[in-house]
Amino acid sequence: QKLGVALVGLGRYASGQLAPALQETKVCRLAGIVTGTPRKEKEWARKYDISETNIYNYDNYDQIAENEDIDIIYVVLPNSMHAEYTIRAAEAGKHVISEKPMATSVQDCQRMIDACRAAGRKLSIGYRLHFEPHNRELMRLGRNEVLGPVRKMSGAHSFPLNDPSAWRLDKELAGGGPLMDVGIYVIQASIYTLGKLPTSVRAWDETKDPEQFPEVEGTIRWELYFPEGVVLHGSSSYEDSGNNFRMEATDGWAELSPAYSYSGIEGESSNGPIRFPQVNQQALQMDDFARCILEDEPSIVPGEMGKRDMIIMEAIYESAQKGRKVDLVFEDGFIDPF
Ligand code: NAD
Repeated sequence: QKLGVALVGLGRYASGQLAPALQETKVCRLAGIVTGTPRKEKEWARKYDISETNIYNYDNYDQIAENEDIDIIYVVLPNSMHAEYTIRAAEAGKHVISEKPMATSVQDCQRMIDACRAAGRKLSIGYRLHFEPHNRELMRLGRNEVLGPVRKMSGAHSFPLNDPSAWRLDKELAGGGPLMDVGIYVIQASIYTLGKLPTSVRAWDETKDPEQFPEVEGTIRWELYFPEGVVLHGSSSYEDSGNNFRMEATDGWAELSPAYSYSGIEGESSNGPIRFPQVNQQALQMDDFARCILEDEPSIVPGEMGKRDMIIMEAIYESAQKGRKVDLVFEDGFIDPF
């Protein structure tokens, strides 16, 4: 019997990636939907054979508590809505996956963690690249010092947004700009490659056309400082294109380009090409969470990791705004299990 997943928010990521991935999962399946758009109820019910009793809207969402077909709620709404819908899911007794960024403040991340803990339910974040073989190879090369100790890292994740009406430009809904949306992957890559937490950060808002970005940054650049002088040079933009990550170690180097895509990730290193089979990242991510629930094991991408990244992103914004370095404090020293 596969665990039942209900997707909340049937936008581009849910319809283009998660629902198709749930046709390939082995430990969980698409069992329900939560949508504010009646037209989508019918479309999805037909396309994915979802029973009428497993279709909810934002008004009757909490009644999902009584539905034994639904084990996992996957929140795929705009960023600032993740907290509320995660907390209500936990209160309904469900395990939760929240999309990245986990929330729009560290405080909300903590509330989500607390709600899931109080309900005795598991919480994980949609960090699909932890299940992607080329990125896993970076973790292996970096953490095991296969090319010697890592000294320097760099990465960019950017795309031209070109849509003035997008919620991604609305600070209230998005929390921030490209940093929160896609720059987060560069931060993630630096920590899972090095296997250490940064100690401070310096950042610069380098928005090229401020008129297009009245609420969130259009372009941002940052440096994360790690122990022993290791530095990450990161950047993220809605005014540019970029999708890469590189690490330099004392005896060699490795890079991925593209590094963060749903498919087509590949890389090179001083030891030769980095080539692995393409996988369905979202299917592996969701199956692993279902397995963690069944075996009562911790997720490798838990809420604490989402909070860790939120602490870093808040410090990046603070640094850009104040024009000085900001120290990072992680009370629980959490990195991530390899
Ligand atoms: P989207 O705009 O395509 O979908 C958002 C959905 O939320 C829509 O169905 C919309 O109707 C619904 N919604 C409910 N209330 C809304 C409101 N007040 N304003 C706007 N929309 C509202 O966005 P998306 O690209 O699917 O992103 C959704 C979430 O998924 C975001 O948090 C995003 O960061 C995340 N995401 C993750 C990945 C990944 O690779 N892990 C990729 C894309 C998006």
